[in-house]
Amino acid sequence: MEGEREILEEIALPERTGILGSKTYRNVSGKIVKTTRLIFCDNCGYRLDENKPIVICHACQKKLCSSHSCTFEYQRKNYCEEHIQQILPLTVHGFEILHCLVAEVNPSMVRELGHVTRDAQKDALNELLEAEYIEKKGISLLTIHRLLDRGILAWKTYASAYSHDGNVAHFESELANYLQERWMKHVSKRHT
Ligand SMILES: [Zn+2]
Ligand SMILES: [Zn+2]
Repeated sequence: MEGEREILEEIALPERTGILGSKTYRNVSGKIVKTTRLIFCDNCGYRLDENKPIVICHACQKKLCSSHSCTFEYQRKNYCEEHIQQILPLTVHGFEILHCLVAEVNPSMVRELGHVTRDAQKDALNELLEAEYIEKKGISLLTIHRLLDRGILAWKTYASAYSHDGNVAHFESELANYLQERWMKHVSKRHT
């Protein structure tokens, strides 16, 4: 490798996806050209600091920043959004339904609180049942949906990312209001 003194031109370029960082030296008509690749998050393009530990997707080796919408942690491993969706699939509506169940609210309330149509809610419920995030108990009108451990895990994994989604943030504040009203009713009943 040629010494630093002989480098006449230095170029900085964005590093390719899945590569941590590289430097190349080329001899261009007798002149040494050093190319340093700068690293960016392969998902959002945010410039990464080479001096800090870099998050890598366990499945595809993409470089990721620590933002909640770029890095997802599951079983002590980090994944990009595409791969966490393969391992632990969860849609926004599915997340809202799990959120209702975590708060001990009937999942049908997602229609009112999250402005979700009846069909979209039904589809999301079926997806959650298929993924074994929830289970169905009872028959016909007495059917209730119960949260399973895997559902709690999925809800936790996506909580930070989906809370930054405008619609979910709105749903969460509507749910908080609903819970507060329910609590106030409960308290006033106890005092009369
Ligand atoms: Zn990022
Ligand atoms: Zn990945």
